[in-house]
Amino acid sequence: MADAPAAEKQSKPIVPFLKVPADGAPYLQGSRCKKCGTTYLGSRMACSKCFSTDAMDDVKLSDRGELHVFSIVHQSAPGIPTPYIAAIVDLPEGVSVRANISGVEPDPKNLKFGMPVQFVAEKIRTDREGNDVIAFSYKPA
Ligand SMILES: [Zn+2]
Repeated sequence: MADAPAAEKQSKPIVPFLKVPADGAPYLQGSRCKKCGTTYLGSRMACSKCFSTDAMDDVKLSDRGELHVFSIVHQSAPGIPTPYIAAIVDLPEGVSVRANISGVEPDPKNLKFGMPVQFVAEKIRTDREGNDVIAFSYKPA
């Protein structure tokens, strides 16, 4: 049993690289190699481009990107509403992010390869302790 008293309600990102600051807009965190400048999503122990194992710089990734590729998913795991748009979004830092596209009907006529998209973070549910669970997606910009 934890002996800590019930903590204050918190925002809990669904993935560690989604940062939800108490006093600012949510963003995706990346890390940039100090030697060659290659940027990755989340944190890494080593650079796969130059093999440097030096600590990387934390960077705040852009909230705008381009729709690289998408697929409309009609069948998924039980409990996951379909259809939805699964996509890969390219960010200006050279990072590709796997995410869903929101804010638009899942119909190919609404989507175009290379179209600009905007990062959105939102509460998707409340966990058992009453914390907000935060997920992210991209919507057409
Ligand atoms: Zn590197």
